[in-house]
Amino acid sequence: MSTTPRPTGPFTTTNSGAPVASDNESLTVGADGPVVLHDHYLVEKLAQFNRERVPERVVHAKGGGAFGVLETTEDVSQYTRAALFQPGVRTEMLARFSTVAGEQGSPDTWRDPRGFALKFYTTEGNYDLVGNNTPVFFIKDGIKFPDFIHSQKRLPGSSLRDNDMQWDFWSLRPESSHQVTWVMGDRGIPKTWRHMDGFGSHTYQWINAAGERFWVKYHFKTDQGNEYLTGDEAERLAGVDADHHRRDLFDAIEGGDFPSWTLYVQVMPYEDAKTYRFNPFDLTKVWPHGDYPLIKVGRMTLNRNPENFHAQIEQASFEPSNFVPGIATSPDKMLLARIFSYADAHRYRIGANYQDLPVNYPKNAVVSSYSKEGPMRYTFNAPDVPVYAPNSFGGPHADAGRAAESAGWDADGELVRAAATLHPEDDDVVQPRTMYREVLDAAARERLVGNIAGHISGVRTDDIRERAFRYWDNIDTELGSRVRDAYARAQAEQDQPVATV
Ligand code: NDP
Repeated sequence: MSTTPRPTGPFTTTNSGAPVASDNESLTVGADGPVVLHDHYLVEKLAQFNRERVPERVVHAKGGGAFGVLETTEDVSQYTRAALFQPGVRTEMLARFSTVAGEQGSPDTWRDPRGFALKFYTTEGNYDLVGNNTPVFFIKDGIKFPDFIHSQKRLPGSSLRDNDMQWDFWSLRPESSHQVTWVMGDRGIPKTWRHMDGFGSHTYQWINAAGERFWVKYHFKTDQGNEYLTGDEAERLAGVDADHHRRDLFDAIEGGDFPSWTLYVQVMPYEDAKTYRFNPFDLTKVWPHGDYPLIKVGRMTLNRNPENFHAQIEQASFEPSNFVPGIATSPDKMLLARIFSYADAHRYRIGANYQDLPVNYPKNAVVSSYSKEGPMRYTFNAPDVPVYAPNSFGGPHADAGRAAESAGWDADGELVRAAATLHPEDDDVVQPRTMYREVLDAAARERLVGNIAGHISGVRTDDIRERAFRYWDNIDTELGSRVRDAYARAQAEQDQPVATV
């Protein structure tokens, strides 16, 4: 008598919904005979399997995320008319956190900035704020972005990551020094995604109901407190659990421990930008809090895990071009480059109709666009809606007054390739110097020195190593000599003969 239990539950079907004959055996000519081509169920299974991946993101490939809500608890309507930032408004949202340089499967605990990408499903269309856990970035012009990322990724021959490339690029571009100081410090390896702040990083523009313009920076302060991992802890976790951060977020939400962040903004009156001591659109600089204090806006809480990672996180498409009325861009050159780049990446990765997917669809707004057709098109207008504009049949018509781009900024001049106009205190090292001297305490400075020296130990080329030391001399001569000393000590320890018994 057979002991195999009778299967219960639904019967297997093909993707077209028809019952299939076997989960286990291919269709063959006799039990030992060849497999026949008309076993279309076998063909479907194998072909579908071959197509299970979409191309991984070139940057920010490894990540995780969750859904939640943003509640605007304060009244900032004097600065923006955006519906999501009106008092008492609750907006459904999605967050995705990530490392930058590592590929799918790489450890979550590598030292790196973390992506902090947010999509708000507002009543005026999706608003995406695609930031990082740092207030600044390595470069200030998008034309260098591919080169910068190449230097952080892998060598073309061996496909190994390479400290020479990293320090070569950084030391040739001293504008990177603020972000490198930040990354080499404690916050370069957050304990979890829940224990890190998020920043819009760029300067954006807010416009109020009267049409007045302001420059803003977003700060999401973690309500869990900033916590970090030491290099040793991070290395151990990289081996024990490469998905440490992804797992932590999922488990916390699954257990009802919902992480939250308090949202603040810094607001600069429009005219201040022209005479401010720093270029306020330079992504390598912060606005010191003493100049522009934090203004509370509300709270973001993550409370729902994805049901399907691929459909809702891997295919989630965040794009800085998703603005809503009351929020617009600024002259930040990195932001202007990203406005092109993200939507372009999604068209390649996911397909032309990526915004038709439920996770990307502006589900709380009405879409009345003239876009049509293309691969995998799912939504469409009613048949009586005209397919061109202008038309005389009552089709959708543009309304400049409502549009997010209704506000611009003063710009004039010859076409040039030049750094942005200098402001009185613009300089690449002043802010990392402040961070080193005034923000970090003695113990944090000591860890910073150790982290830098450890990283430079991986540099093979003398000239690049020497340039790396000078990079730190320029920020602070004491920091530079401490890095040299720590490096020399580490080398001496390595050269010690290993005692044998
Ligand atoms: P403040 O003293 O007002 O603020 C210091 C900032 O540094 C706080 O945001 C603090 O974050 C953050 N911070 C503390 N420890 C670390 C660390 N180990 N790594 C990274 N950031 C840390 O100073 P200012 O606004 O005048 O800025 C001084 C310097 O602080 C800047 O040059 C910049 O390097 C850094 N900084 C400034 C920010 C800004 O937007 N002004 C934002 C982040 C850093 P928290 O309150 O969460 O502890």
